[in-house]
Amino acid sequence: MTPDSWLEAHAYLRPLADLSARVDRAMAGVGVFDARIPDWEDYRADFLAGVPLLPSADAAVDLEPGGRMAEALLLRLAPEVSSGKLAEEIRALATALQREPQVPRRIADFLMGDETFAPPFPGLLRYLAWTAMARFLRPVVTAFDGWRDEERWLRRYCPTCGSLPAMAQLVGADPGRKRLLSCGCCGTRWQYKRTGCPFCETDSQRLASVAIEGESGLRIDHCESCGGYLKTYVGQGNETLLLSDWTSLHLDLIAHDRRLNRLATSLYEFEPLR
Ligand SMILES: [Zn+2]
Ligand SMILES: [Zn+2]
Repeated sequence: MTPDSWLEAHAYLRPLADLSARVDRAMAGVGVFDARIPDWEDYRADFLAGVPLLPSADAAVDLEPGGRMAEALLLRLAPEVSSGKLAEEIRALATALQREPQVPRRIADFLMGDETFAPPFPGLLRYLAWTAMARFLRPVVTAFDGWRDEERWLRRYCPTCGSLPAMAQLVGADPGRKRLLSCGCCGTRWQYKRTGCPFCETDSQRLASVAIEGESGLRIDHCESCGGYLKTYVGQGNETLLLSDWTSLHLDLIAHDRRLNRLATSLYEFEPLR
């Protein structure tokens, strides 16, 4: 499965694919700052207590350079998107940010949940800023994957940034099959219980599954207690395409028609995409 063949089969995803490609191109022109890898022993106690890496004062990951990359991405993108609602919003956002002191720090704090900063198009900023921040954090996420004992986490929120998952993935074959949750913000994947619902934390056999015709590899798992659902990629090797969230927005429409609730975190909820 290639992105091209996927888009041929799902032509309605084209606007999102164009946006994603444009952001990727702009991102390729943004210089990447080095992220300091934390001293894992400093962070161990917080990890065992369930504190994600980025909010941990002991891990002390500095997100300011990632905020600088996010600002640079926005400024690169602004002249490239020339017409339409998205262009207007990107420009308004760039203008609003120019009025802020310490923009990179403000962006980093905003991603960590600081509500004192109210940019004009928060959804768009979250999407763009996480794209840049995830690129900045990539070496940290990789090192964290190598250090983390998955059996000691098994929590419903991302061990790196604390977000709820965007999607899930089933890897391997029974009896050793594992369920991973996938963060749509920072890109971390972590292990979770096979039958537990990450939204209401009901751990029973009450997870039902909807197979999607013609979509081998993707299905919708939903919880009969809270009605939350999680799009799930069954397989390995196509993570970049199938765990991108936007590449399976049609599954969200199917779930919506079935009156299931999207409780998963999404970066694709901003206005011009609706
Ligand atoms: Zn995350
Ligand atoms: Zn549930």
